[in-house]
Amino acid sequence: MSILSELVNLKLEDHTDSIIAEYIWVGGSGIDIRSKARTLPGPVKSPQELPKWNYDGSSTGQAPGQDSEVILYPQAIFRDPFRRGNNILVICDCYTPAGVPIPTNKRANAAKIFSHPDVAKEVPWFGIEQEYTLLQKEVKWPLGWPLNGYPGPQGPYYCGTGADKAWGRDIVNAHYKACLYAGIQISGINGEVMPGQWEFQVGPAVGISAGDQLWAARYILERITEIAGVVLSLDPKPIEGDWNGAGCHTNYSTKTMREEGGYEEIKIAIEKLGKRHLEHIAAYGEGNERRLTGKHETASINSFSWGVANRGCSVRVGRDTEADGKGYFEDRRPASNMDPYIVTSMIAETTILMK
Ligand code: ADP
Ligand code: MN
Ligand code: MN
Ligand code: MN
Repeated sequence: MSILSELVNLKLEDHTDSIIAEYIWVGGSGIDIRSKARTLPGPVKSPQELPKWNYDGSSTGQAPGQDSEVILYPQAIFRDPFRRGNNILVICDCYTPAGVPIPTNKRANAAKIFSHPDVAKEVPWFGIEQEYTLLQKEVKWPLGWPLNGYPGPQGPYYCGTGADKAWGRDIVNAHYKACLYAGIQISGINGEVMPGQWEFQVGPAVGISAGDQLWAARYILERITEIAGVVLSLDPKPIEGDWNGAGCHTNYSTKTMREEGGYEEIKIAIEKLGKRHLEHIAAYGEGNERRLTGKHETASINSFSWGVANRGCSVRVGRDTEADGKGYFEDRRPASNMDPYIVTSMIAETTILMK
């Protein structure tokens, strides 16, 4: 082991009570993740114990230079798989010094929706399937693809194994374990239809926690790909042509849907989603029109549809849910670059609060 990795792996807890907290927030583009670290006097158990902090919002596209301070409010903590020990990752959201959420803070409104008594009573569960593409750093072309060329057509790659089919597995597996270590409810991983593209799932997680966990999982993936010298892309259609895009299917259920006779409630909820199709599409990620073409296991962006076991629909109900008469459904519309705070809270708002 090099002296550098020995130093990186020094065990702080043998020598000091101090811990390192990595404060993480969503940057000005709404999809970039920023973070910085600070020392705290001792281990913490909940985000309420943590101090607020600030950063220079003029450097992240989130504040003007003459009034640049943005305030970070700690909202959720995870174990830090990189520093380990008592060190933590802190998911924060962003406020002006007067305590108003800044425009890119999508968490504040989501938290409001999830704390509405009618929503809280339904204990909404979310399972989010994050698809992503790994790119070669210098050329921004998918990992494993020949330079200036394409691999063989789609078919052998989905859940595939072998040196000619699966590219980037060490990154995927490192991320999987790091998320479990951190305390994220990561429920699985798989190789995708387009080679170099992978998926992880987070959930079922309750309410606002689904968004906190997905952002933490994205952060950990950015850090691992950074170490590996590979670029993470959340573009919904990274390669034009006969190549699958990347989505963020959002699986959803309420207490009523999970109980006896829940299928009736599922059908009512799906009908409500259909009525607000355009509003949802507008909030489901940038560039999603390049992905939702009606081909490559997607439905057209222009119309709402649903079906049992149908992967060409906007919303899919699983065979098990139909057979059991209760369960959950999958909103297949969200793009890989969606904001989970927006998508989860909007689904809850439409299906529970909208009459
Ligand atoms: P797909 O068959 O579409 O690829 P995945 O297995 O990738 O589905 O993801 C399904 C996700 O749904 C998982 O994260 C799982 O934890 C989640 N899930 C399971 N049951 C429920 C439920 N009742 N409500 C919401 N999400 C659920
Ligand atoms: Mn999946
Ligand atoms: Mn998938
Ligand atoms: Mn899916």
